[in-house]
Amino acid sequence: PEGYHAAPYYPAPRGGWLDSWREAYTKAEALVAQMTLAEKANITSGVGMFMGPCVGNTGSADRLGFPRLCLQDSPLGVASADFVTAFPAGITTGATWDKALIYARGVALGEEFRGKGTNVYLGPSVGPLGRKPLGGRNWEGFGADPVLQAKAAALTIKGVQEQGIIATVKHLIGNEQEMFRMYNPFQPGYSANIDDRTLHELYLWPFAEAVHAGVGAVMTAYNAVNGSACSQHSYLINGLLKDELGFQGMVMSDWLSHISGVDSALAGLDLNMPGDTNIPLFGFSLWQYELTRSVLNGSVPVDRLNDMATRVVAAWYKMGQDKGHPRPNFSSHTRNKKGLLHPAAVLSPIGQVNWFVNVQAEHYRVARQVAQDAITLLKNDGGLLPISNSAKLSVFGTDAQVNPTGPNACANRACNKGTLGMGWGSGVAEYPYLDDPISAIRRRVPEVAFYNTDEFPKVPTPTDDDVAIVFISSDSGENSLIVENNHGDRDEDKLAAWHGGDKLVHDAAEKYGNVIVVVHTVGPLILESWIDHPSVKAVLFAHLPGQEAGESLTSVLFGDVSPSGHLPYSITKTAADFPASISTLKTFTVGQVQDTYSEGLYIDYRLLNKHGIQPRYAFGHGLSYTTFALTNATITPITPLSRVPPPRPPKGPTPSYPTAIPQPSEAYYPRGFVPIWRYLYSWLRPGEADRAYAAGTSGSATDWYPYPAGYSTVQRAGPPAGGAEGGHPALWDVAWEVRVTVRNVGDRYAGRARASVQAYVQFPAGTGYETPVVQLRDFEKTAALGPGESEVVGLRLTRRDVSVWDVERQNWVVPGMGGEGEGGRGNHAIPAQLLLARVN
Ligand code: BGC
Repeated sequence: PEGYHAAPYYPAPRGGWLDSWREAYTKAEALVAQMTLAEKANITSGVGMFMGPCVGNTGSADRLGFPRLCLQDSPLGVASADFVTAFPAGITTGATWDKALIYARGVALGEEFRGKGTNVYLGPSVGPLGRKPLGGRNWEGFGADPVLQAKAAALTIKGVQEQGIIATVKHLIGNEQEMFRMYNPFQPGYSANIDDRTLHELYLWPFAEAVHAGVGAVMTAYNAVNGSACSQHSYLINGLLKDELGFQGMVMSDWLSHISGVDSALAGLDLNMPGDTNIPLFGFSLWQYELTRSVLNGSVPVDRLNDMATRVVAAWYKMGQDKGHPRPNFSSHTRNKKGLLHPAAVLSPIGQVNWFVNVQAEHYRVARQVAQDAITLLKNDGGLLPISNSAKLSVFGTDAQVNPTGPNACANRACNKGTLGMGWGSGVAEYPYLDDPISAIRRRVPEVAFYNTDEFPKVPTPTDDDVAIVFISSDSGENSLIVENNHGDRDEDKLAAWHGGDKLVHDAAEKYGNVIVVVHTVGPLILESWIDHPSVKAVLFAHLPGQEAGESLTSVLFGDVSPSGHLPYSITKTAADFPASISTLKTFTVGQVQDTYSEGLYIDYRLLNKHGIQPRYAFGHGLSYTTFALTNATITPITPLSRVPPPRPPKGPTPSYPTAIPQPSEAYYPRGFVPIWRYLYSWLRPGEADRAYAAGTSGSATDWYPYPAGYSTVQRAGPPAGGAEGGHPALWDVAWEVRVTVRNVGDRYAGRARASVQAYVQFPAGTGYETPVVQLRDFEKTAALGPGESEVVGLRLTRRDVSVWDVERQNWVVPGMGGEGEGGRGNHAIPAQLLLARVN
């Protein structure tokens, strides 16, 4: 559509121009300089779907000690493996609003990915961002706000990468729904049409912060953006990611989304995953042997392949994987000790594939803490919660109990049976066990009555002090699997609880005077059919708790701790509170489905505020058993701001290699080599290599694949908004520090409780920029405070936090800030209104 154009951006910026990666690049350059053409092509592509122990397996350069890399799902734990921890999902992690805990989860994840011998963690996910409440994979990320996503992703990346594992922030970008996401031979994937400002201020924001945190890998999305597929989108990869955001690591395609060989290479893709083409025909690739060929015949400059290989190797060195990094000791395909080494091959060799390494350590503690501190109390009439061990309890709903056929009974968790601890698709892990709520409740109240059915049963007439706890759920996942007719995304009407859950709550409320509702869900639900029922006294959102669903919940229910989670999205009164452009998922059109983000910056609370729509429960809402007061707020200027950042620092030097087309002998199959059928190799038969070389060096370009419009071999200086990892370094200057005293002033709850403080900014009117009413910019959580105790909390606002993206200028501008002088000293006036959120 008009106004959503994907401008070409060439050439691919070489990596290595930043000091933060200098050492890794120096080592990588030395190694890549020794590689043959075939070795370079081998390490920039997978060797094929199901061709090794992991979900992605690259080729190696064994001669030089560069191994096959193991890339493994998922954001919440080591997927398809035994003896691992099934951590709470991203959405649960976001609901803790606890930076230290998010980081601790990242450390534990990193330890497990390392312990299993992987090289690359395929997480965190920040795309989808959460534009569509029905979107199938929102739960893999941290919540429907760019700042919550960004900070949680950065802390996860830090925790994971400190363990020597390369993290992968995904999916770049606009993968906000599952339907029509993939290109196939008959139809292109949908085009997410996103304007430049919205891209910068919402969808790209978490990616920028991930790059700022030093993330080693980025995965592109299946869909297109502004008409061009993400895996070959030169503006997105070369322009935004590598030049503006200064990304130094490797860019990989999402699985089977590689739809061009030369174009994707020129557009900046560095690693093709899992190596095969987009058509599910194993054993064919657009890279590997084809990339070798296209370098020999001049279609892809060797300079580009050198950069691709150097980026892969630099990420490996950056995480210290050259120093005794373990090899994969598990198989994604079997639990047997021995198995096929290359399961998709015809006639695969057999060998040991499982060593049964237990990597769980004490990680259940972190997992349980996240699950517990995410639990979000939305309603607590009359202080029904916490309940005591002597309460007369009845529990309803199959969601309270683990699936009787086992927590892993459905492959990739593609069913909603029993306690819902995660959504479905590639974003899951195997449960080592599932501590379900009913078991945990029975540990405290052995005589609890449990009605394991969603049909409201004939229960004995309750007395006034009887309490009913009703468990309901809502599930979603990845489009590769369909669950109860949901194609990944939740069905249009599925902002309701599944399996008649809303009716169950209603029926229980008609019978019992005290009803507590516990919700396991991938995202928001419409609660209106029962939320105002006088018997529904308390509502807890436990999100997707992973393996620790039970004890984390009972510690809140019975008051060992106060709930301290807060909503990572808004809960509206009706699905229609979000416009059709946001909720439509299935309007099939011939050709490319157009998903135009006409609401621009206005998603979730930004949209509700704009239209003055009162949500049922606001983004960031969450009650406590106690009451907190915020006093003595101060704001201190730290770094003076100019209206726009000063001139960017220039790019540093990048590795340089010979630019002549390599000798064809570098591509020959080794003499006597017997290939495994379907396994992908980067070699060519001598005759093929010689022919390609002859074409590439003949001086006539007729055999070359034409370069795209706008292609140039001259490296660019980079845009003014760039200059460091995450963009211009001045964007990260702390402009103000805010301090506020948080005191536990409640007298009802004797235990300790934690408060969440959230800083939102509001830009002044009349600056020439239309901005959302308020926007989250930072958050902190207190330690557990006893009655009367207090803590001073500090929050920071960076230049970026008080800037808007100016499309004309192609730079960040502080609206309302006087002094045009670019790079001038600026002043300390506060251009934005700061709001500290009510904490309960
Ligand atoms: C998903 C990715 C995942 C990959 C590997 C794709 O279908 O979109 O998130 O990492 O598969 O399993």
